[in-house]
Amino acid sequence: MAVRKIRKIGDPILREKSIEIKTIDKNILNLAKDMIDTITRGEEEGVGLAAPQIGVAKRLIVVNFEDSIKTLINPEIEVLDGTEIEGEEGCLSLYSIKCNIKRPRKVRVKAIDLEGQSVDIEASDILARIFMHEVDHLNGVLLIDHLDKKARIELLNKINEISS
Ligand SMILES: [Zn+2]
Repeated sequence: MAVRKIRKIGDPILREKSIEIKTIDKNILNLAKDMIDTITRGEEEGVGLAAPQIGVAKRLIVVNFEDSIKTLINPEIEVLDGTEIEGEEGCLSLYSIKCNIKRPRKVRVKAIDLEGQSVDIEASDILARIFMHEVDHLNGVLLIDHLDKKARIELLNKINEISS
């Protein structure tokens, strides 16, 4: 188990489409452990993490919300209520700078867990937002892609200040 380094914007792996996990082997279990360690014991705690953020382009996410940690393999999202709600969002790969993003209010997430069992979760509001954010990572999408041009430039300027 280990806390792994978080990949930051500009790293090409964050723009890759992650591949489906076919077998839950030791590598996947270790990857999941490292991801949990990284968001619970790392310097920067987070509510969620996707495998590409620690350099592995596989479809695995970890969500750490209200004292419950969920590890989901090959998660898929179905929108149940498309009413768009604006909410604050940050990303460890974008230096945790907060921005306001509109997302659907309610989703269903289908996935498998580390034992290979099917998982079916309905989530709304903040939790729905976290799931959508993490699944975006598996498709090479970053929250910056949801911003309009002005907000995107503001965010990029802040990132340049922090990272230079
Ligand atoms: Zn993120």
